[in-house]
Amino acid sequence: MNYKKLADLLFPDVNSDISYYENLYPERPNKFVTRFAPSPTGFLHIGSLYTAYISNIMAKQNDGVMILRIEDTDSKREVIDASNLIIKDLNDFNININEGINSGNYGPYIQSKRVNIYHTYVKYLIEKGLAYPCFLTEEEISDIRKRQEINKERIGIYGEYACYRDLSFEEVKQKLESNANYVIRLKSPGNFNERFTFEDLIKGKIEFPSNDLDIVLLKSDMIPTYHLAHVIDDHLMRVTHVIRGEEWLSSLPIHYQLFRIFNFKMPKYAHISPLTKKEGDTVRKLSKRKDKECLVSYYEKLGIPDEVIKIYFNTLINADYESWYNSKSDNEFKFTFKKMPVGGSLFDSDKLINISKTYFSRLTAKELLDKTLEYYKKYDIDFYNVLSTDYNYSINILNIERNIKKPRKDISSYSDIKSCFWYFFDEYFYKLNRWNEYENVDNNLLEKYMEYYNYKDDKDTWYTRLKEFASENGYSPSVKEYNDSPDNYKGHIGDVCESIRIALTSLKETPDIYEIMQVMGYDKVIKRINKFVNRK
Ligand code: GLU
Repeated sequence: MNYKKLADLLFPDVNSDISYYENLYPERPNKFVTRFAPSPTGFLHIGSLYTAYISNIMAKQNDGVMILRIEDTDSKREVIDASNLIIKDLNDFNININEGINSGNYGPYIQSKRVNIYHTYVKYLIEKGLAYPCFLTEEEISDIRKRQEINKERIGIYGEYACYRDLSFEEVKQKLESNANYVIRLKSPGNFNERFTFEDLIKGKIEFPSNDLDIVLLKSDMIPTYHLAHVIDDHLMRVTHVIRGEEWLSSLPIHYQLFRIFNFKMPKYAHISPLTKKEGDTVRKLSKRKDKECLVSYYEKLGIPDEVIKIYFNTLINADYESWYNSKSDNEFKFTFKKMPVGGSLFDSDKLINISKTYFSRLTAKELLDKTLEYYKKYDIDFYNVLSTDYNYSINILNIERNIKKPRKDISSYSDIKSCFWYFFDEYFYKLNRWNEYENVDNNLLEKYMEYYNYKDDKDTWYTRLKEFASENGYSPSVKEYNDSPDNYKGHIGDVCESIRIALTSLKETPDIYEIMQVMGYDKVIKRINKFVNRK
């Protein structure tokens, strides 16, 4: 067979001189080059973000290059819009892209714009007798599959099933003249009974059988499959580290073989274990159909900051990150592939929430308020208006139990700010308060307290005087005394505090009531107690 003639017949207008591209995209000696290669699906899956994030960490740590490559060979979507969405999400997470779409010398970075390149390399393979047109119809392929299933054989086109491997030039020509549909397949030189060893940066040494499948390189529309595009793109972009999802590990023998037959240097691979979710007794991959928490936008709406997701990712990527984070060390944390998990990583919402609480507790009130305002400006303009009316008042609210050794940890998202602090604002308080839930509060006591209360008291004085006030009004100043002889008292100091708390907030549980009163100020405290006492 004259393979050159066959190649010209199939690709008359394509040059098969691959040295053109080899020279156009020179090697980048001693550079760490990695990439994120999403398909433009219109939203970002948390698992893809996780992969992009890891790639970016490793690129930054190694002073390397991070490429964004859009893999749109399957996509019927508007690629530019979908790509812009991805870029926005990556920006939000500080994932720096050094090359992609609009910049870089190794492009184009959108696969649909690289079709000439793929054709050049495929023509080159055909000339070498390593690829061929295959005219199997879909029905024939499905029949082969059924036969293989019945005979318990491996599925795929190989050996006797690869029946178009050795067609003569004339036979191919005839087929083309009759307008038969075809794809271009690899003429795999592999033997399934031979094995090779491969070293994954995360999973270590793995043994695989060699590939003997004649996999499709170009589909019938002459658009490449993932396998071909991955190998050519990562080679020509001079990628040194392919960091990708574990689901690609099983195709590695195909990629290994393609790198060999093209005589390309193989990059290093790091296959990332998937994020998983526990459901009853089973653990499964996070799924975009079943899990709302699988979309990056879900966290944004909920008000979980990107920083928190990053911290959580870090704890998943290298387990010892967490103790580093908790120790508040100034040294930079160094991530390594070796410490990345080999099995799946449980994406645990409770843990994420805990990390978020710690994160929020470490912000200054000003940092927190500024970020909170940004959130409400987008998601709840009414609360934004209320929160921004008196900036200092809002700062004081957020400062309650913040600048202390063990700061309060009750906020896990921006949306919690409203659910935790709404009662400070009259606009919400008089609409939403739950005073009517409390029948038995001692109105008399509260009425007297309005006269007794001195805003200027410091905390200790306030509490000492509160105990005196309790005693004067038939309440025990200590819980213990009350418990010893409950018949002697109307209640104890805790009940006094609770009455004040209910009048001021309509809640039974709040942060420190003294601090709440200090923040509200004398007038608001008196007005609320007064209204409470006189409620219908
Ligand atoms: N487009 C592929 C995906 O989204 C990329 C895999 C890779 O990183 O090579 O899964």
